[in-house]
Amino acid sequence: MHDCIFCKIVKGEIPSYKVYEDPDFMAFLDIKPINKGHVLVISKKHYRWTWDVPEFEEYWKVIKKITKALIKGLHAERVQYITLGETVPHAHVHVVPRYKDDGLKSLPDWDKSKEFLADEMKNISDKIIGQI
Ligand code: AMP
Ligand code: ZN
Repeated sequence: MHDCIFCKIVKGEIPSYKVYEDPDFMAFLDIKPINKGHVLVISKKHYRWTWDVPEFEEYWKVIKKITKALIKGLHAERVQYITLGETVPHAHVHVVPRYKDDGLKSLPDWDKSKEFLADEMKNISDKIIGQI
């Protein structure tokens, strides 16, 4: 889709902190993470909603892979999933690690969105990649 920001990320026209890629899916760090290691898992092909993605089971397998990597690589205590699609009209699942005493209320707690420096984002993505 011409103007879709996630399609541009898939094509490499917009930079991202990519943590995973296969022929159908891609995962990268959210630029405004709710928590350290907040990942978005998207279909590479443009679909409006997650349920439009034909390889739905594969989609969940990728999400599980990311989940395990967040637990091992970043020591997440647990991991939560959100699928809203209210601002970016390209299928995506938010995979959000939760840490002990992280101060977040029930998700989505957008008020607690954080910003990390480029070096920190790189470091976080490396830790996730190291466990995939
Ligand atoms: P929503 O569509 O409401 O599920 O949210 C879209 C998410 O995409 C938000 O959490 C944004 O921070 C995130 N986002 C938007 N642009 C980018 C980008 N260029 N790279 C990474 N994440 C992005
Ligand atoms: Zn798109």
